[in-house]
Amino acid sequence: MKAVRLALLGATLVVFTAFARQVAQPAAPTADSVVAELKAGNEHHTAKKYLHPHETPARQRELASGQHPHAAVLSCSDSRVPPEIVFDQGLGDLFVIRVAGNIAGQSELGSLEYAAEHLHVPVIVVLGHQKCGGVTAAVEGGELPGHMPSIVNAIQPAVVKAKSMPGDLVDNAVHVNVAMVVDQLRGTKPVLSEAVEKHQLRIVGAVYSLDTGRVEWLK
Ligand SMILES: [Zn+2]
Repeated sequence: MKAVRLALLGATLVVFTAFARQVAQPAAPTADSVVAELKAGNEHHTAKKYLHPHETPARQRELASGQHPHAAVLSCSDSRVPPEIVFDQGLGDLFVIRVAGNIAGQSELGSLEYAAEHLHVPVIVVLGHQKCGGVTAAVEGGELPGHMPSIVNAIQPAVVKAKSMPGDLVDNAVHVNVAMVVDQLRGTKPVLSEAVEKHQLRIVGAVYSLDTGRVEWLK
C-alpha cells in the first residue's frame, strides 16, 4: 500500500513538474501570432487606445537577464513612425533597426542577422511610410552633401521601377522600396535566406500612413 502511495506521489510530482515547466516557459511565438499581435497593436494606435504593455518596473528587471523580442523591425528613422508606439509594444518586445529610407546596408543586415540567428525572432517587418523624406529626395534627384547620397542611391532602383506605375510617384516608390528591401533580405545569404527556407523566419513589408496611423501590410 505504501509503495502504491509513493508511486502515486511520484506520478503526481512528474505531472506537476511538467505543468510548472509549461507555465514557466510559454510556447515560442509563431510568425502568425506575432503578426496578429502587431496588427492588434496597430489597432490600439489608430484608435489611440493603448495598452502600453511591458512598461512596468518588474518587466525592466526581468529584461536585465536577457532579451527575447518577438519581432525585428527595419523602419525609417522618421520621428513620426516609432515602431513601439505604432504597434503598441513595450520594453523588450521589438528589436528595432532604424535608418532613413528603411534600407538594408551592411550594418542593418548584420543587425537583422543577429536578431534571426541569436534572438530567433520569427518575424522581420520592413516598415516604410507615407511621404518618406528619403524616398522624396530620391525622386527629386539633385546633389546632396556629405553621406546622404549613400541613402538616396540605395532607394534609386525603387524610384526607377515606380516611374512606370500609375498614380503618385513618391507613394509608389515608398511601396516598391519596401518590397525590394523585403526581397533583398529574403535573398541575403546565408543567415536570413536559410532561416526563411527553413520556415523559421518570415519577412514582411508594411507601409505606415501618417494620415490615419494605420499600417498597410504588403502581400
Ligand atoms: Zn522616411
